[in-house]
Amino acid sequence: ERILVCCGTGCIANGAYEVARALEEQIAAQGANAQVDLKVCRTGCSGECEQGPLVRLMPRDTMYYKVKPADAPVIIASLEGDPVTKLLYRDEQGVRHEHQADNPFYGLQHKVVLKDVGIIDPLSLKEYKAAGGYEGLARALTMTPDEIIDEVEKSGLRGKGGAGFPAGRKWRSAASYDVWPKYIVCNGDEGDPGAFMDGSTMEGSPHAVIEGMIIGALAIGAETGVLYIRDEYALAREHIQRAIDDAYAAGILGEHIMGSDHKLDLSIVRGGAFVCGESTALMNSIEGKVGEPRPKYIRSVQSGLFEKPTVLNNVETLASIPTILAHGGEEYAKLGTEKSKGTKVFAMVGKVKHTGLVEVPMGTTLRTLIYDIGGGIIKDRPFKAIQTGGPSGGCIPESLLDLPVGFDTLVEYGAMMGSGGMIVMDDCSCMVEVARYYIDFLCEESCGKCTPCREGLRQMRYILNEICEGRGKEGDVELLEEIGHMMQVASLCALGRTAPNPVLTTIKFFREEYEEHIGEHR
Ligand code: SF4
Repeated sequence: ERILVCCGTGCIANGAYEVARALEEQIAAQGANAQVDLKVCRTGCSGECEQGPLVRLMPRDTMYYKVKPADAPVIIASLEGDPVTKLLYRDEQGVRHEHQADNPFYGLQHKVVLKDVGIIDPLSLKEYKAAGGYEGLARALTMTPDEIIDEVEKSGLRGKGGAGFPAGRKWRSAASYDVWPKYIVCNGDEGDPGAFMDGSTMEGSPHAVIEGMIIGALAIGAETGVLYIRDEYALAREHIQRAIDDAYAAGILGEHIMGSDHKLDLSIVRGGAFVCGESTALMNSIEGKVGEPRPKYIRSVQSGLFEKPTVLNNVETLASIPTILAHGGEEYAKLGTEKSKGTKVFAMVGKVKHTGLVEVPMGTTLRTLIYDIGGGIIKDRPFKAIQTGGPSGGCIPESLLDLPVGFDTLVEYGAMMGSGGMIVMDDCSCMVEVARYYIDFLCEESCGKCTPCREGLRQMRYILNEICEGRGKEGDVELLEEIGHMMQVASLCALGRTAPNPVLTTIKFFREEYEEHIGEHR
């Protein structure tokens, strides 16, 4: 029997380490009297963060929620066949237990990227391999670079950091340059407020990210790789570093990848700022320069890091690769929609009953995510909007909840799926305040290099402050729109071009709230 204790960042904050220790002490106290062989396993994020610390008993698949160290004897006793089996929520009468599959939060998900997250000990190479890890790499080592890229193209995998560029096409392009050296870079600089998909993936399945990078390196002919990880992600960095060390020790990285003639060195660079999630700023930062974007006259697949051909993929994209290579691109392409294949991981937070980490097939509707998986709005209040795609995304109203989520669907409405952050808002949220919050955030995070973004954001912040503080005047909404449209076409990088989205979408769908603010104080 394995006792899985979720030790994702959220559960750790709620005392998961103390729970794991209490369970171990309880097992030790039983000593020779124990009827079953028990092992406590500290896993990555199980998903349902606000119900943590989460404990799951395997193979019987029983979940316990909001567990306290004092619950350890009851949980261990239930494993020993004790009649204490019906337990309720900790915040009502104790801890609840049920089978994970019976909980719609889990039952409606389809996990590819997160398949091992919350199941295995992320620090154990042995457990990763036992779950099928490095099988994709083993297959890739029997293939030519072209065949690897064919497989990725067949899968239809698109960059999951938000841009949605076909991953196979990017790899083929980088592979076509006969230049040495080449680089593969993993973007782990997840900076959107409320987003924790990539951090949780790196924490919970670090070898999947590394395996994806090795396969990518084989495909394009790179011998050096860099994982650029957000500096606040200390646990993710620790787990990735441990996985790199273990992979070197096992001959998976280094001079002879799994005994082959291929070579790859991987290292971590600590990330800096929100703008460093932008590809050229990220590469500047790795090169030791100021992390600000540079003009993209030449694509980074031709001239990227140190002006050499570079493939930059985000964590989720790379963590999808091992499954694609192990089971075939066609199998992966069966999931999702025609234009958006596979699955997408979302971090769902805000005024939704069950917040957490969710992976669903592309094409799942926002309504399914919020109501079926998320359990609906807290206190059953009316839904008002969902912010998708981080601060550069947009606010989507109730009327669009039946849209299937994909790379292209939300864009038609001025929003975007982005990297997967989702903040749910109820009828108590003021959409003008929401727009002000994001513009304030972006004002601080803009690098200030180009005038449209730097000055546009400041002007937007000034006008939004005026409106929110009762000094709004006629014409302010139109001025916000004009500035927003100017920024979309004139800013140097994607941060500036998408920064007006929270303002433009809230004006588009909630214009009356702006008018009420201005009208009230006229
Ligand atoms: Fe910097 Fe904004 Fe210009 Fe990008 S758009 S280069 S973040 S000022």
